Amino acid sequence: MLDRAVIDALFPADLPEPEHWEQRYPARELPEGALVTRFGPSPTGFVHIGGVYVATIDQDVARRSGGRYLVRVEDTDRSREVEGAIDQFERGFAYFGLAADEDIHRGGDYGPYQQSEREQIYLTYVRHLLRSGRAYLDFATKDELAAITARQQATKLPTGYYGSWAIWRDAEPADVQAKLDAGDPYVVRFRAPDDTGARARFTDAIRGPLEAEANRNDVVILKSSDQSPRLPTYHFAHAVDDHLMRVNLVIRGDEWISSVPVHQQLFDALAFEPITYAHIAPLMKQEGGSKRKLSKRKDPEASVDFYIESGYPTKAVLYYLRGLANGRLAEMPLDQALSEPINLDECGVAGPLVDLVKLDDISADHIATLSGAEILSEVRGWAERFDPALLAVLDAEPDLALRALAVERDGAENPRKDLKKWGEFRAVYGFFFPQLHAAVESPDDERITALGVDRDVVQAVVRDFVGNYQQLDDGQEWFQQIRDVAAKHGFAKNAKELKKNPEGFPGSIREASQIIRIAITGSTRSPDLHSITQALGREETLGRFAGLVGE
Ligand code: GLU
Repeated sequence: MLDRAVIDALFPADLPEPEHWEQRYPARELPEGALVTRFGPSPTGFVHIGGVYVATIDQDVARRSGGRYLVRVEDTDRSREVEGAIDQFERGFAYFGLAADEDIHRGGDYGPYQQSEREQIYLTYVRHLLRSGRAYLDFATKDELAAITARQQATKLPTGYYGSWAIWRDAEPADVQAKLDAGDPYVVRFRAPDDTGARARFTDAIRGPLEAEANRNDVVILKSSDQSPRLPTYHFAHAVDDHLMRVNLVIRGDEWISSVPVHQQLFDALAFEPITYAHIAPLMKQEGGSKRKLSKRKDPEASVDFYIESGYPTKAVLYYLRGLANGRLAEMPLDQALSEPINLDECGVAGPLVDLVKLDDISADHIATLSGAEILSEVRGWAERFDPALLAVLDAEPDLALRALAVERDGAENPRKDLKKWGEFRAVYGFFFPQLHAAVESPDDERITALGVDRDVVQAVVRDFVGNYQQLDDGQEWFQQIRDVAAKHGFAKNAKELKKNPEGFPGSIREASQIIRIAITGSTRSPDLHSITQALGREETLGRFAGLVGE
């Protein structure tokens, strides 16, 4: 073992002792049973929807128990860090209303809430483990480590830095000193307990009792000494931070299950009270006959930005995610599901499938429960960021926007389910706005010619329709105007009649109506035409035929 003086010389002289931090971050005064949870985003420039999923659970479980939910920025991997990533994360989480009780902005008594600012704290505990012989300096080079792995593989032994493979584990102090004198870089490794035969046991809050082989690896706890700041590995930061932030329930992705044995050893070596884990199964995607993890590389819907840019309503996404966490919640109406608890023991151990078709349905159903005014306000919010031109139009014509949204919605028994996300507003409602409407400029417009009605007949129909047009309140009476003009120009009364004698008619009432519909809406499909003309007003309605009346 190294002399204490040698160890201490590696650290700042004024580095506090563990007791200092223990007092600085005392046990929380919270009601019995209160859970303190945390979410640890890494600022890599990609915010995964799985993060929103886990954070939703974190927040729900903490709030409901009268505890606290914290967000800690896990930026110990400098090579993966991306400029602006923290802001991006915060915008994403703000969209889903996932505010923390303590974080880098709000602060709190247990900060700093960013790992790169906690160097002193980590160093205290690294020195502590070195002094007690539970950690050691390791000067192995990349090449040496690669050679060790190769030899282990060749002899079919478990790979890793352990036992007699761990060349610096029991190094002579003189050899260590020589390396230090030469200024060679080193990492600090945890000295795994010798009795590697023991089994690791713990009870996961989701999976129940689990058992695994005990850890034998001397994992790195402090990264290379040639870097500044000196940062810990995930394993060590997890132990120190979750202990000192007085977290008592670690909810995290199940890719960490296999690390629990080493985490238990670290907690034990540091004399920290053991912590409870809940390992969440990842969100999955169906691909052909098999399931795989939702992938940042392959699946646009893995990214939080996808939901925000498409304009999925926050509540619809949260409702969907809560239903994936606890199937019970998917069976409830949205408002109830958003206020019922998420129970950890109801979370599945197999990853739930993310199905955008299902989410679209949920979203369309949810939007159909909103008033036109509520929808307008959400669409405005979306357009502010993603479609400024649309925003300008909405702000120029707020009344028209409300009239458009009211069609088959406000007061309707079965409101339209024509919007799944705010980003669809332009495509679905754009035609109401003169600025966004793709007017039919002539009878040769493809939308009109596709009906197969003679050009002159189209013009004659339109002229008559416009010439006699009345802006009527009654839908039936209004539509009679189309019937009359169709009859006058010899259109068949229905498709059947036309089919019997295709040459005998210029088209059927269907084609006649479609001429009018296309002129007014630009499309062969639209909500109730009469309601649309009510929203547009007489002048705008008639104006839309200008290109069709002819010279
Ligand atoms: N920063 C870690 C990650 O991104 C957090 C894991 C945890 O919650 O402990 O995987």
